[in-house]
Amino acid sequence: MSTPNILILGAGYGGLLTTLQLQKKLNYNEAEVTLVNKHDYHYITTWLHEPAAGTSSADHARVYLDEIINKDKINFVKGTVASIEPQEQTVTLEDGQVLPYDYLVIGLGSEPETFGIEGLKEYAFSIRSINAVRHIREHIEYMFSKYKNEPDRTDYLTFVVGGAGFTGIEFCGELGDRIPELCKEFDVDRELVKVYCIEAAPTALPGFDPELVNYAMEILEKKGIEFKIGTPIKQCTPDGVVLATGEEIKSKTVVWAAGVRGNSIVEKAGFEVMRGRVKVDEYLRAPGYENVFVVGDCALIFNEEGRPYPPTAQIAVQEGETLGENLVAMLRGELPHKFVPHLQGTLASLGKGEGIGQVGSKKLFGSTAAMMKKASDLRYLHKIGGVGLALKKVKL
Ligand code: FAD
Ligand code: NAD
Repeated sequence: MSTPNILILGAGYGGLLTTLQLQKKLNYNEAEVTLVNKHDYHYITTWLHEPAAGTSSADHARVYLDEIINKDKINFVKGTVASIEPQEQTVTLEDGQVLPYDYLVIGLGSEPETFGIEGLKEYAFSIRSINAVRHIREHIEYMFSKYKNEPDRTDYLTFVVGGAGFTGIEFCGELGDRIPELCKEFDVDRELVKVYCIEAAPTALPGFDPELVNYAMEILEKKGIEFKIGTPIKQCTPDGVVLATGEEIKSKTVVWAAGVRGNSIVEKAGFEVMRGRVKVDEYLRAPGYENVFVVGDCALIFNEEGRPYPPTAQIAVQEGETLGENLVAMLRGELPHKFVPHLQGTLASLGKGEGIGQVGSKKLFGSTAAMMKKASDLRYLHKIGGVGLALKKVKL
């Protein structure tokens, strides 16, 4: 019998953790494992709001795969998946390579959810990859330098963040820290710079504890962020955004942080999806396929009350670890375990030294939350790359 072939798509939280489990637990010749990723690095998506605002470098948020993957055990293919053909058990890359599989793991992450709002795809930025955040950072700097040459153009100094979910809030926290530095560097009066965080729901961070939400908003307002709550963005144009109220905000920088959907490759492959996410069974299998597994933001799982879990790195990591173990068990003819998420709480940063969090019934504010977030980052880095990586990457 030939060696089973496991193909993993995406080296994000879900795909990487599946790979690392296989790397750790499989014996030589038990399976051929191939990881395909667009880049030769993994990025810490949970940090991307920082390089987007320019408070840390994009390089800091990436981890080269050859630092954590043992190429004697895992074949790495740097390539972009173009399509998945589940009937043929193949995956086609943009360069035309066709990769067959016996077991497939889909961990291709998410795409911005635009809800069909006109102009967003064309004119808005989003915080989604190393390349995307580098672009945002450089664009913001360029706006400051352009303003110095065209001082009547206050739209260059107006920044719009669409959505006050965790991504929007964390990005505003960093922007609030970065704007004073940019004002100093470009000799711009801080009063001229406007940052609007625009939220459709009646509150920022809908569904989160109101006391923590108020704390977050107060901190961000002190950093100069102006909230517009209960005001959906209904259009994005080359000149800014139009709100449902009819108000127009002129801005050359719109950052869309109003939610995500699963990678469109999954839907195009014919899997049944909700907002691009496959409703997987308790073993993380795609319905109708014994050998196709989905992890991370491409997977949809529900809690006991029947509500979907939000797509988070925390769940993606746990899915990857369980799936890695299950694949090993299946290859050995043992029974797999059902996936049950163990939520450890939520921690969000609000810029340097500030944060909010909820761990069980405990609410965390300010530096305590910020420290807990660093500790959680440290645990993750240690998990994927040991002490060396943790020490190299974590900024204390
Ligand atoms: P990703 O981590 O996005 O990885 C997908 C991988 O697939 C990437 O390596 C990508 O390059 C690759 N890929 C994509 N398309 C292709 C293709 N066509 N071909 C080849 N490779 C491809 N969650 C938390 O739990 N805690 C947090 O504090 C937190 N903070 C966040 C902060 C920000 C700014 C953002 C944007 C998100 C945050 N999240 C957080 C959510 C979390 O980052 C995601 O839920 C998580 O990244 C999902 O993991 P994933 O493995 O599904 O995908
Ligand atoms: P989200 O869906 O959590 O929040 C998006 C926000 O945008 C919502 O509040 C929504 O009401 C708002 N919105 C939607 N349409 C809008 C419109 N037309 N105009 C204005 N506002 C609009 O999305 P996200 O913040 O991108 O987060 C994506 C996922 O990543 C979530 O599951 C989140 O929990 C997770 N995440 C977690 C953290 C953390 O734990 N620290 C940080 C970032 C992201």
